[in-house]
Amino acid sequence: RPVVAVVGRPNVGKSTLVNRILGRREAVVQDTPGVTRDRVSYDAEWAGREFVLVDTGGWISDATGMAAQIAEQAEAAIQLADAVLFVVDSTVGTTDEDEAVVRVLRRSRKPVVLAANKVDDQRFEADAAAMWNLGLGEPHVVSALHGRGSGDLLDALMAALPAAEQGVRDDEQGGPHRVAIVGKPNVGKSSLLNRLAGSTRSVVSDLSGTTVDPVDELVEIGGEAFRLIDTAGIRRRVKEASGSEYYAWLRTQAAIERAEICVVVLDASESVSDQDLKILSGVEEAGRGMVIAFNKWDLTDEERQRYLRREVERDLQAWTWAPSVNISALRGRNVDKLARAIDAAIEGWSTRISTGRLNAFLGRIVASNPHPVRGGKQPRILFGTQAQNCPPTFALFTSGQLDPGYVRFVERRLREEFGFAGSPVHIQIRART
Ligand code: GDP
Repeated sequence: RPVVAVVGRPNVGKSTLVNRILGRREAVVQDTPGVTRDRVSYDAEWAGREFVLVDTGGWISDATGMAAQIAEQAEAAIQLADAVLFVVDSTVGTTDEDEAVVRVLRRSRKPVVLAANKVDDQRFEADAAAMWNLGLGEPHVVSALHGRGSGDLLDALMAALPAAEQGVRDDEQGGPHRVAIVGKPNVGKSSLLNRLAGSTRSVVSDLSGTTVDPVDELVEIGGEAFRLIDTAGIRRRVKEASGSEYYAWLRTQAAIERAEICVVVLDASESVSDQDLKILSGVEEAGRGMVIAFNKWDLTDEERQRYLRREVERDLQAWTWAPSVNISALRGRNVDKLARAIDAAIEGWSTRISTGRLNAFLGRIVASNPHPVRGGKQPRILFGTQAQNCPPTFALFTSGQLDPGYVRFVERRLREEFGFAGSPVHIQIRART
């Protein structure tokens, strides 16, 4: 799915516009208890085309050096996006901050759609027309608050996106898989990248003709080529400035969106933290394959390893489906094993089960473990089909609603039967009433 970054200075109405675009379509996501989510990316759809909206609106900065900070924030989002929705406030006109963003946009050469917001009535249309002076083409007149103009804006946005087949063709041709290395600061992402990047050059020449985004890198792990997403972001050490935590999270989310499989790096020598859990949930919610790498294994003694096992049992229960590898980026330990884990996750993530096999399996479940009776009725699974892979997504047609516990049971049995190691499994219930 193509990624659209929504960019603009504070208060131009980015979040209102994002809500307007999502309408009621936003997917309901399951909450992982104890994990606070602050999402910045959302699944959206227009005219049958699915895309991902990245809202950069949650970023709060102090007043000093605002133009520079906004430009920097915009740069992070733009680098990882396929197209940019640039929002300006037509009641205010263009400001220095807007101009700073425009310079970044020009450099990026990414397609840009300009939204002149807050045109709540016709009086402001002339002001909106003045936005032509930004040199970004036609300003699309919208009122995020009242919904005005959002259809035309979305049409323009769809037209600006790269051709639909591109991403698909890339995957189907068996080009290198897209892998993101994610994790909180200091867990060893850049060390791992450096360890992996030794072989970069030979891979690049072998795959001449493969176009790689400048923020990505082709590497070889255990003899196999992978495309590492956003290596520029990992290499460029972002200075600790205000807003940088949000900025890091934004990058992480964008990298997750572009990846097929994420390697979540944890520091094995330290306790699992909320930030780690947030990243793990982020990968799961985005429906990406996942491998967990416990790095800095060289720093752990037996006692720490014993304690870590307890922590994993307590805190990482929700992700037992993800293969894990104990590595040392510094010493090179087990790094080649990552390739096998990534392969396993890719396989699990892209598995397709035929409708025949699926229904034979569902029939056995219904017979051996029927749903408990509820209010004198017995909800039943009538039929199922795999609606999608990447990740495996199943639609179950039922009579009556199923208990969440029963759905979890079905997922557990599906995994036992068919695998799906390294991948989230989504189950959608279509209840006939
Ligand atoms: P990043 O912020 O996730 O990219 O983390 P870095 O790669 O910059 O690593 C942070 C610190 O951890 C650096 O001082 C590294 O040398 C150290 N480090 C990374 N991997 C390992 C490892 O496997 N073992 C040990 N002992 N130190 C490591």
